Formats: sequence, structure tokens, C-alpha cells
Amino acid sequence: MNSIDQKRKSPLENLLQQVSEILVRRQTLPSRLTACMRTIANEMDATTAILYLLTPDKHLEVYALYDSYSPHEKKVRFRVGEGIVGFIAASKKSLICDNIARHPNFLFRPGIADHVNLALLGVPLTNSRGTIGVLTLQNPTSKPFDQWREKGLLEIGSYLAQLEELNRFPALDSAEGKMRSCHTLQGVSFNNGVAIGTAYVHQPCSWRETDFTSDIKSETVRLKLAIRNMMISIDKLLESTHQTDKETQEVLESYRMIASDRGWIRKMNEYIQKGFTAEAAVQKVRRHTRERFAEIGDQNLKDRLSDLEDLASRLLKHLSGQEIGTDKLPDSTILIAQNLGPAELLDYDRRYIKGLVLEEGVHTAHVAILARSLDIPVVGRISLLLTQVENGDKLIINGDHGTIILNPTQEHYDEAQNAISLNQDRLALNKELSEKECITLDKTPIKLTLNAGLPFDLHHLDDLQLEGVGLYRTEIPFMMRSSFPNVRAQTELYRDIIDQAKGKPITFRTLDIGGDKVLPYMWRMQDENPVLGWRAIRVALDKPAILRQQVRALIHASQGKSLNLLFPMVSDINEYREARAHVNHELSRAMRGKIQVPAPISYGVMLEVPSIVDQLEPLLEEVNFISVGTNDLFQFFYACDRTNPNISNRYDVLSTPFLNYLKKICDVCNKANVPTSLCGEISSKPLEAMALLALGYRTLSITGSAAVPIKRMILSLPLNKTREFILNELKSYSPSLRPALQNFAKEQQILV
Ligand code: PEP
Ligand code: MG
Repeated sequence: MNSIDQKRKSPLENLLQQVSEILVRRQTLPSRLTACMRTIANEMDATTAILYLLTPDKHLEVYALYDSYSPHEKKVRFRVGEGIVGFIAASKKSLICDNIARHPNFLFRPGIADHVNLALLGVPLTNSRGTIGVLTLQNPTSKPFDQWREKGLLEIGSYLAQLEELNRFPALDSAEGKMRSCHTLQGVSFNNGVAIGTAYVHQPCSWRETDFTSDIKSETVRLKLAIRNMMISIDKLLESTHQTDKETQEVLESYRMIASDRGWIRKMNEYIQKGFTAEAAVQKVRRHTRERFAEIGDQNLKDRLSDLEDLASRLLKHLSGQEIGTDKLPDSTILIAQNLGPAELLDYDRRYIKGLVLEEGVHTAHVAILARSLDIPVVGRISLLLTQVENGDKLIINGDHGTIILNPTQEHYDEAQNAISLNQDRLALNKELSEKECITLDKTPIKLTLNAGLPFDLHHLDDLQLEGVGLYRTEIPFMMRSSFPNVRAQTELYRDIIDQAKGKPITFRTLDIGGDKVLPYMWRMQDENPVLGWRAIRVALDKPAILRQQVRALIHASQGKSLNLLFPMVSDINEYREARAHVNHELSRAMRGKIQVPAPISYGVMLEVPSIVDQLEPLLEEVNFISVGTNDLFQFFYACDRTNPNISNRYDVLSTPFLNYLKKICDVCNKANVPTSLCGEISSKPLEAMALLALGYRTLSITGSAAVPIKRMILSLPLNKTREFILNELKSYSPSLRPALQNFAKEQQILV
């Protein structure tokens, strides 16, 4: 091509020419695409260009990138619909964003430049098969992108998308993008029940604001006013639930507590003092919180992130004067959202909400707890949900199966109607069950206790007549605070819990912090393998003041009544002895101070590390009770990280090696006559609980919401026959007895 031709071309045509010349080079595809990214970034005056391509498991993964500042982590990936990149793929629309941290879909990912304030331009890569990826440009916020560059990038994106070599990459086809015919989507059940209704898609709030201000005084006043208005609106929500719904109120109260957290408000004010606008301050703190939560493995605490997100959005709405809760809903609304905070759910008129479907979410999040107390079916974790459902779509939500059916047939409607009538009968039955004695068909009594971690978990003790708290995870309230509670604050907390239990016994587990349960305000080791690292009793023994203060507070709170103390993650019998010595020290101190000491005191050890199982016999001579923590025990038994979704289905708790192991533990404890309960999540699942009872366990500590299904199973369980069956099965080697146990339960009509 001669220079006259080149001059006649527009800058975009020139760029396309350069890209096409790179693409025909004799180099590998990644090298050519990386070179393209460099050229595109240079020619379009951007610091960074990134090409994300779709993977077979429907993630957008960085395939080629150029960054003039720093190298990036190439492995970064987003699910479709997740983060800004996932949002572009899901919406199939280009996006100009002057500051990514302000975008409602912004998601922090370590290793990619998302963690600084950046302007972004992104376009979907679409060809005849559908969307195959996303192309983004980034700049500092001082150099935002304009519509001309958007137009240019769209052309380059569609040019790249035609590249034949990209045909081996999957595409988000029109079937996944939008399905008009009848179609079932599978997710996870967060609450049972069936409902028929019309989709209403929740819209997260959006805003555009400048970052900096010179008027610090008026920004401080704006923030103060917005916080005040927000508190008034939360109080109104609380009032609207007054006397009708205890659980909803408790969740809102804890939400209000987070909203009035002085640490949160102080941090926002600090940013304003540095010259940020009120909106930017909210966003800064929100981003900081997300980053902190991204490092935390503990699910209970992670669940609280959606509350904090909800609060930040709510505060931003108040700052921008947007109206809350004015949406006009269809008569039978099935609410559709990527995720939702508890107050966001309550902002909607509850009379119309018949079901809730989330693309993300977890069973234990506040929004799921609230939805359960509103008694609506909830299905979560439906991938690509927001790309497939639109306002006005007719659908059936089936919380029993964790599915939704889009555009149902008449047959589906008839089935759903039947299930709705059956569920109504079942509700009456559940109430009846909770009043019955907890014994198997062959009259063996079974003790059910509660796993708790927040004060509002305790109401399950009343509702379902559980015999006490088998495991109180004391670290959870610590994790929700912004500073370490002193002895007085801890005493109040424990006294409140003891009061709420109304005389029922509580087993307080000493702090299981460290590892993945991070206290944001506490210095911590940078462990390479945090779960195997400095956590639980290891922290307590290395920093005895923490253990001593906690025990002191528990002694004060017990006021001379009984106290059950449980030590987590004990790996060696001497650790238990050392912990006991600290308790003795505190008891002597209390006696010297004429403080009434608890009586009786029972001491227990969590069996959750295989090494202590090997020291079980001598240990049993020194403890009053044992609690088997299968969540950790299973992960250490199979060397299989309990928080890693890639391997979470690899091994089954119902495998013969693990069941034999649990039986061995139970036999040794029963022989020594030491009360033993099992408090891992498996005791809250009917089929697993059936197996545990058959192995010989007689006390299960369960989550409150599992009490009815577990009790139903127990009342229908022929225990001796089941034990005979499982002992026989245990002789064979099997990676999973699940199908065999399911068949057995079906034959014997055990309600699992
Ligand atoms: C367990 O490990 O089974 C357990 C109950 O403890 P946590 O889940 O709190 O680690
Ligand atoms: Mg544990």
C-alpha cells in the first residue's frame, strides 16, 4: 500500500488495517492477539486493552492483554453476568464508564487493574454464533472514553469476532441469551415452596458523580443527612414488620446495627476530609469492604457482605434523592435479581411478592433468611439468570427442586398448582411435628441441638423445641464488629445469649479465628495455607490474653450457673491441657475477686483434626463431652479444601472410608461413655443424618432451618434395620453409599 492510500484512510480504517496485518503473521494466536491489544491501546489512546474469551464453563477469561503500566494476572475470570466484564457479555451491549468503581456491577478481582479508579470502555465480541467474549480499554479516570472511540471499538470487536480461529471458543448463543420457549433453569434451593407468577427484574441503582470536592463542610452535612434519612427509612421498615414477624425484625435490627456502625460512618467521613464527595466516600468504603471480604473464607461472614452492599446502595440512593420502594409490581411477582440485600427485598410491597430468584446468593444470607420468614420460595445461583429472564416473563419457581420454569406449558401449571396445594397441607403437618417427641420408629430417643452464631439464631430454640445450643460459634459476633470487644462487651454479648436461651444449655466454642475467619481489625499471619495455619486454639495459646479475656467474660456472664466450654481445632492433647490451665487461672482469679464461678463447668473438644482422633482414648479420660466437626474433619481427611467449589463434589461424606472413620470415633466415645454430638453441616441433611444415627450418633447439632426435615426423618426411621443395612454396606469399599442409602430410604419410606 502506498503512502497516498494510507493518508486517505480514516484513523479507524488504519487501525483495522494494522490489526489485519498482525493477524496474518506466522505466530501463535495468543501472540498475535496480544500484539493486536498493544496496537489497539496505542491507537485508541488507552493504557490497557484486554481481550476476554468465553471458556467452556461460561466464564470470561483474559486471553490477551496489553498494559503500558504493569503486567496483569492472566488467569482473571468473571462469570457471565458477574462484574463489569460479565455485565457487558450478559447485556450484549457496549459500555462507557468514567469510573469503574462507581458502576453497580463493579467487582474487585485481585490481579487485574479493577482495583484502582479507572475509566473503561467495553464492547461484546459477537458473531453469528453469539457472544464469544468482551474487549475492553482502560485509562486513568482523567482520560475517559467518548462515543467515537466506542464506535471504533465496536467495529474492531466485530472484526476480531469473525476470526475463524476463534470458532473453537464457545459462544453465548441465542438459546442461552434468551429462551422464549418453555425452559427449565437449575439453581439451588434456598427455601422450599412453589409459586406461579410474573418476573420482575430488580434494578440496582445507578449514579454519576464527580469524585472530588473543595466544599468539605457541605459534603459532611450531605452525608449526615443521608445517613439520618436512611436510618428513618430502616426504622419505617422495622415498624412495618412490627408484631407480625419476629425473624424479619431481628434481621432488620442487625441490619440497622450495621448501618449505625460508627466504624463505617467514621471511615466515610475520613474520605470526605480527604476531599472526596459523599458519593465517592461511600464507594471508597464499599470497595474497601469488598476487598476485605474477598479474602475471607468464612461463609457466615461473607453472607453479611450483601447487607453492606445493600446499605451502600441505599445510602447512595438517599444521597442522590432517588425514590425507594415505589416500583409498581405485577399481582403475583417473582422477583429476579443478581443479588439482593435484606432491606432491598423489604422495600418491595410484600403483598405482591410470591417468590425470589437470585443469580448469586447463599442459603445463609440475610435476604434468604428473610425470604424464608416471609414464607416465599427462593432459588439461588442460577447462572446466566439475568440474560434469560425479562420483566413480564411468565414463570414457575420450584423451591423444592431449586428450579424455575420459564414460559411454562399448561401441564407445568397444573403440576405447580398441585404442588402448591400439597405444600399447604405439609405446613400444617410441620407444625404438628415440632410438638412431637423426638424418637425413631423403634423408640430410640434422639437429641437435636442448635448450631448458632448470631443472637437471632436463638429463636429456633423456641420455635422448634431444640434441646439447647450444641455449638455457639463465638467468632461470628467478633467478625461483625469493627474493633475487638473488651471483657465488658463480651460479657454483655454472652449474657444476652444466655438470657435468650431461657435456661436451655449452651455450648460456647472459644474463638475459632485466624485462617479463613479473619478479624479485620486484628493483626494476622500471612499464612500460605490459612486453614492449616495459625487459627483457633493455636491463636488462643500463642496469645493467651485473647482466650483469658473470653473465658473471663463467659465466667461473668454465667453468673454461677452452668457453663459448657468447647475448644476448636485441637490437634494435640497437650493443647487441650494448656487451654484448661488458662481456664483454671481465670477461675482462681474470679474466686479471688469474689465473683461467683460457673457450676458445673463442662469441657469439650472439637474432633476436627485427624491427629486428635488418634489420641482419642486418653483425651476421653479428661473431657466431659466431644463434638465432631465434620466440616473440617472431612476436608482434612480427604485433603480437600471445603471452600473450593472446583473440588467440592469430588469426595462424598457418604463414602465408606469417611463413614467408617466416623463410626470408629462414635464407637470409642460410646465405649468411654462420653456424650458425643456431631455438629458439622452433614447433621442438618436428612439422608446424611440418617446415616449418622445408624452409625451410632445420638445427638446432632443442626442449623435451625433443618429442624423440621430432620425430625420428620427421625420419626420415620427404623433405626435398627437401618444400622444393620449400613453396617453391611460399610464392609464394601465404595466412594459413595448415597444411591444405596437413597434406595433404602425409599423402600423403608424414611422421609429423607
Ligand atoms: C466443623 O468444622 O465441622 C465445625 C462445626 O466448625 P466450623 O464449621 O465452624 O469450622
Ligand atoms: Mg471447624
